[in-house]
Amino acid sequence: MIAEQKIEKTIINIAPQMNDGNHGLHYEENLLWEKERCDHSGVDLPKPDGTALRTGQSARGSIGLPQVSEPQVVRHFVRLSTWNYSIDHGFFPLGSCTMKHNPRLNEKMARLPGFAHVHPLQPESTVQGALRVMYELQNWLAELTRLPGVCLTPAAGAHGELAGMMTIRRAHEAKGQGHRKIVLVPDSAHGTNPATAVICGYTTKTIKTSETGRLTIDAFKEALGNGDDIAGMMVTNPNTCGLFESDIHEIARLLHEAGGYFYCDGANFNALVGKIRPGDFGVDVMHINLHKTFSTPHGGGGPGSGPICVTEELAPYMPVPVVVKNEDTFHLAYEDERPETLGRLRGFVGQFGMHVRALAYMMSHGADGLKQVSEDAVLNANYLLSQLKDVYHVPYKGTCMHECLLTDKIQKEKGVSTLDIAKALCEHGYHPMTTYFPLVLPGTMLIEPTETESKDAIDRFVIVMRSIAEDVAKGDTEKFHHYPVSTPRKRMNEVQAARHPKLRWKENS
Ligand SMILES: *Cc1c(COP(=O)(O)O)cnc(C)c1O
Repeated sequence: MIAEQKIEKTIINIAPQMNDGNHGLHYEENLLWEKERCDHSGVDLPKPDGTALRTGQSARGSIGLPQVSEPQVVRHFVRLSTWNYSIDHGFFPLGSCTMKHNPRLNEKMARLPGFAHVHPLQPESTVQGALRVMYELQNWLAELTRLPGVCLTPAAGAHGELAGMMTIRRAHEAKGQGHRKIVLVPDSAHGTNPATAVICGYTTKTIKTSETGRLTIDAFKEALGNGDDIAGMMVTNPNTCGLFESDIHEIARLLHEAGGYFYCDGANFNALVGKIRPGDFGVDVMHINLHKTFSTPHGGGGPGSGPICVTEELAPYMPVPVVVKNEDTFHLAYEDERPETLGRLRGFVGQFGMHVRALAYMMSHGADGLKQVSEDAVLNANYLLSQLKDVYHVPYKGTCMHECLLTDKIQKEKGVSTLDIAKALCEHGYHPMTTYFPLVLPGTMLIEPTETESKDAIDRFVIVMRSIAEDVAKGDTEKFHHYPVSTPRKRMNEVQAARHPKLRWKENS
């Protein structure tokens, strides 16, 4: 503790202009504007003497860019880049986010000039290879989900939800069922689910999760009512408590009987891929986060991609374009060939670079490899759970799927909350788990180790988690309210940061 206070003091006492210094190879970094000095300049051009400007009136005056040299700029951005914690730095157990390793083979494939340099306006005859990649990806996704209609264009999971719910709305309208305006959503849902339903013009109705952390047929029936006004249901399976919805088959049957469609949030497909196919448990539409399940980079690392997979019945309504094969050639089908489509969601074909990466991942794993992905993801989460369940409160008994849920119930009695535990993890060099989500219980901690972590890596994390729990149990709790102390930024006032963020730098402020 004494040593920690000393460190804090040293950093604070450094004058702002000295902030370039490093502390144990941990660089502080101020804004470029704070670095600038009037005797620095990025470019040295001699003053024109008496020569008229050739650009005349359009000569550019000062545009207020900071006066810094190239090495200063390079160091500035490289240092900032080291502040961005990523999966390539270390363990990233953020539940629901599937922060797994992104194999470099994917990157190599996406950088092949024939893929990296194509332009979306090129004639189709010159991009047959690229179209084939998309066609193959559509087929892999259709096979893995058992949902034959695939549209690759959505740019992220939430965008896929929008595409999927718009497809459902379009189908209801086509059947003269446009009066159905209610979408059922469990209380454990990801926030994007109700948001998507509302953006599509629907009203949401909550299905209550039972004390087992799952949906029950009774709770579903109660929310369904007579079903006349129900457009559909949005459910994540496995759900956000990391549990498989064991009654999903029957729930889907009842929903279909009432005339509704089943939207499955596929963000947790990591736990099922290669083992079971969502089409088999009654799903009508599902989005896939290529950037979660199929290892394309995300979280500051790259654009996402959220293709949707739909049943044969719904396929005509989904967005365009889709890649079709005519004999030996591939081509993009638009409105003229798919008259019932809801239309286009965005320019061009989606995040093509992510399509290449996802297909590279699938092909390099193969059917057996993908099966092992979900098996190992579930094994790792259950191993982690088994190592922590005697020192943290586990709200739902039994095994979990690819992520495990704990709460701060035991630690809270000594005044240490989930937030404090998350900050203690930062202090010990770990990215925290997902905190306070799902909202079904107070103080939740959702931990997803993913299948790409070794037993050693999980064991090290377990040591830290257990040592936190032991300190709290011993009553050594004061430090938890000050953590983290050795990071460049210390304990934030989170409310102030959320409500009154300072987004603009002003000189001398
Ligand atoms: C990540 C996630 C989403 C949203 O996906 P994005 O690609 O971030 O838009 C939706 N639902 C669940 C359950 C998720 O985990």
